[in-house]
Amino acid sequence: MADPLGERDEAAAALNLVGAAAEPYLRSLPDRLVHDRTRDVLLDELDGPLPERGAGAVAGVERLLRVGTEAGTHSAGPRFFHFVVGGATPAAVAGDWITSLLDQASGLWATSPFAARAEGVVLRWLKELFGLPESWGGVLTPSATLAHVSGLACARFWWADRHGVDVTARGLAGLPAMPVLSSGYVHVSTRKALQILGCGRDTLRTFALDDTGRLDLAAMEAALAEIGGPAVLVGNVGEVNTGDSDPIEPLADLAERYGAWLHVDGAFGMFSALSPRTAHMARGVERADSVTVDGHKWLNVPYESGFSFVRDASLPGRAFGAWGAAYLPDADDEHVNYNMLGPESSRRARALPIWATLYAYGREGYRAMVERHLDVAAHLGGLVEGDPDLELLAPVRLCVVCFRYRPRGVPEERLDDLNARLGAALLADGRVYAGTSTYRGMTVLRPAIVNWRTTVSDIELFVEVVRELGAEKAG
Ligand SMILES: *Cc1c(COP(=O)(O)O)cnc(C)c1O
Repeated sequence: MADPLGERDEAAAALNLVGAAAEPYLRSLPDRLVHDRTRDVLLDELDGPLPERGAGAVAGVERLLRVGTEAGTHSAGPRFFHFVVGGATPAAVAGDWITSLLDQASGLWATSPFAARAEGVVLRWLKELFGLPESWGGVLTPSATLAHVSGLACARFWWADRHGVDVTARGLAGLPAMPVLSSGYVHVSTRKALQILGCGRDTLRTFALDDTGRLDLAAMEAALAEIGGPAVLVGNVGEVNTGDSDPIEPLADLAERYGAWLHVDGAFGMFSALSPRTAHMARGVERADSVTVDGHKWLNVPYESGFSFVRDASLPGRAFGAWGAAYLPDADDEHVNYNMLGPESSRRARALPIWATLYAYGREGYRAMVERHLDVAAHLGGLVEGDPDLELLAPVRLCVVCFRYRPRGVPEERLDDLNARLGAALLADGRVYAGTSTYRGMTVLRPAIVNWRTTVSDIELFVEVVRELGAEKAG
């Protein structure tokens, strides 16, 4: 096989292979191991020299499907509780396929008015879903990390402007370090975004009341008073170990009082706004200046998907700006060009799976899913509390349950090692998937429940497997 032009009629055949594999694969997900290490031998089939003579579309797709459906991590299934990993709803998967089928370049309105219009619509729907004002600006990003880059680039532009510098044109040279203040709940991705923006990852200062990381508002206020100039506050809705949130209203009050910028990381936690049971956790976010949310977590859209929202809709254009090339549109183009509002240039039509899933399930559907996850998490919290060999380490407030295995007779100093070995055993076992983290100096499990497929029976199996493997490791 040589030139793909010779295969122009093979595309449908190759796609049909994927379509035919989809049904049995998706049907098998609830019963599969999350990861079957015995299948890793198949990975060798991906390897080898660059083909001189190609095998053709059908042969390539066949091989990739066979290896992928066996040796892939089946995190789209209901029992992947590690990190915070969402699945993909039926509508979102299909919407994602359409994205590839149509292969839209969605950075410029001129390349695809369809993709630009879809992005505008989903950004408006998402603002409505999260209770953010319609007047805010926004852009779709590949991840929450890149949404931080988008939002914090606006913060940096605003901050440098206060110092009389156009940072987009001139950079940071000659400016002092940008003060960034948060609680101990701050996620590492915020530091990475600051690093990418040239602000340095270690310039961020945290103010915590205790080893949980909980915000020390008084200490933060004292620091702000001492800084005496423009600063950036980072509020966190949904911390990765416990799901807890910073109090956003008091942070917004502080930002107002000291003229600071308030950035909120609601990567998964912003979905608390969907249920009256948890809406208090996100209360006040509408008073922030920039907000980050993930699509590939609790919205259950395939990777990669994130959203950046900015109060002053004129700022993203100034922070990222026009290209200044004759063949590209100007900043004052009559149409929106999303690649001028964020860090990317060429980009896929990221809006399509989001449009498909929001159209399919609506606000009601997402609220029902979020509330089911709240129930599943609360149920797990109850099982942990009722079990003398398990220790709940933080109240269950959202979709993350922080606990450790603590069987009678095992001394405190052995518990970290025992739980680390239990976490490794869970990942190797594959019936359920959850690794460890460190919380208040302890090695802990912190399963996160954000996959649309997950139900109470999945979490009950999780507890059974934890007890079984825990007993093995302790014995
Ligand atoms: C996952 C997560 C991020 C980073 O998200 P990516 O999409 O992986 O870049 C940021 N903040 C919080 C709280 C998260 O859970």
